[in-house]
Amino acid sequence: MQTDSLVTLDRDHLIHPVVNYRTHEQRGVAVLEEGRGAYLRDSNGHELLDAFSGLWCVNTGYGQESIVRAAEEQMRRLPYATGYFHFGSEPAIRLAAKLVELAPASLQRVYFTLGGSDAVDSAIRFIVNYWNALGKSGKKHFITLERGYHGSSSQGAGLTALPVFHRNFDLPLPNQHRIPSPYPYRNPLGSDPAAIIDASVAALRAKVQELGADRVAAFFCEPVQGSGGVIVPPKGWLKAMQDCCRELGVLFVVDEVITGFGRTGPMFACKAEGVTPDLMTVAKGLTAGYAPMGAVLMSEAVYQGIAEGGADSPIGHGHTYSAHPVSAAVALEVLRLYEEGGLLQNGIDQAPRFEEGLRALLNHPLVGDARSRGLLGALELVADKEAKTRFDPALKLADRIFETAYRNGIILRAFADNVLGFAPALCYTGQDFDLLFERLECTLNAVLDQ
Ligand code: PMP
Repeated sequence: MQTDSLVTLDRDHLIHPVVNYRTHEQRGVAVLEEGRGAYLRDSNGHELLDAFSGLWCVNTGYGQESIVRAAEEQMRRLPYATGYFHFGSEPAIRLAAKLVELAPASLQRVYFTLGGSDAVDSAIRFIVNYWNALGKSGKKHFITLERGYHGSSSQGAGLTALPVFHRNFDLPLPNQHRIPSPYPYRNPLGSDPAAIIDASVAALRAKVQELGADRVAAFFCEPVQGSGGVIVPPKGWLKAMQDCCRELGVLFVVDEVITGFGRTGPMFACKAEGVTPDLMTVAKGLTAGYAPMGAVLMSEAVYQGIAEGGADSPIGHGHTYSAHPVSAAVALEVLRLYEEGGLLQNGIDQAPRFEEGLRALLNHPLVGDARSRGLLGALELVADKEAKTRFDPALKLADRIFETAYRNGIILRAFADNVLGFAPALCYTGQDFDLLFERLECTLNAVLDQ
């Protein structure tokens, strides 16, 4: 079909996630047609280097034939098996066991979802059920970080602390609370790691005291805040937050939807920091975007609490496509590529090149901060580097950079507050990074001259 016809049909019928609907009607869709490795081609034949792995999910890169074969074989053998009525399928069972093997030792049980939002939503439901089962039914309040992102479900979007997810949606709910983000570049206490960690722990403690420990169910956080602008807390921050939660009797939930599966280097960011969460949510890199799937992993204690509390009836939480066998077969092959295929190691090997490229751009007049962990990074653009003054939002600087970057052959992510986000695939080579930074510098220069 011709691109023009697709643009018209899209404008008339397809509702896109998280866009301004009026802007989209005017701008039109960019139709992506084909992908190979780190590169995409759109319907106008334009070649693009994808520096965001789709939506920080295609960690393997595009066109991995062995994943396609795994999906095809599973579809032919058994395209669907429900998990209801005590049924199951081999790939889903093997995948659950594999995830438990890879995850922090505290996590022993897995519930599969279709993506990250329903993983977070499931975690919330399991947590409520757990505390009720234990007879602690007052524990109904949830605490997250400012700038946190925990998906787009009716409750998860309230845990998400970004204004556009609340506006006109009657969120956050009265039982959802926030504490300040550990944002080294803009922390009022400066960027000293110990001061940032102490401030976060003190804020969490104060919030729990204000609400009452017997009313707080859980604290949710990302090891690196993704959609809030790739905010990288100091090493040791995550462990300190866990220790505080344990002391206060609050469940500690790590949302690894972005950070999981090699994005920050190791398989899971929290495990590398010696953290043992009570629950953990994953998605994206689990299937590298080749099929929809997410999961919530929980500790044996949480599982046993729910099981005992509901011993006289089914636990009423389920999805038709939970543990979908095709997605599970895809995930097993994706995990094999990370480990045996060397992708995880390549990501670790390439991370210094990525960091160096971002840091070199600190010399550019527009760039105030460069930050990354593994292959997850950002540039923050400022009007005045000394004062860290933000550009006037009316200039729509990040959007202009996104458009110019696209014309120059790169896809990046433009966040609010003029943060540019990057999540290159784990298959990137040194040449891919050379091309990325060459095109990125041209883009920043072009926008500066506009
Ligand atoms: N949690 C985090 C940390 C995320 O980044 C996202 C998605 N960007 C989600 C949850 C929601 O995942 P999904 O979009 O697959 O529903």
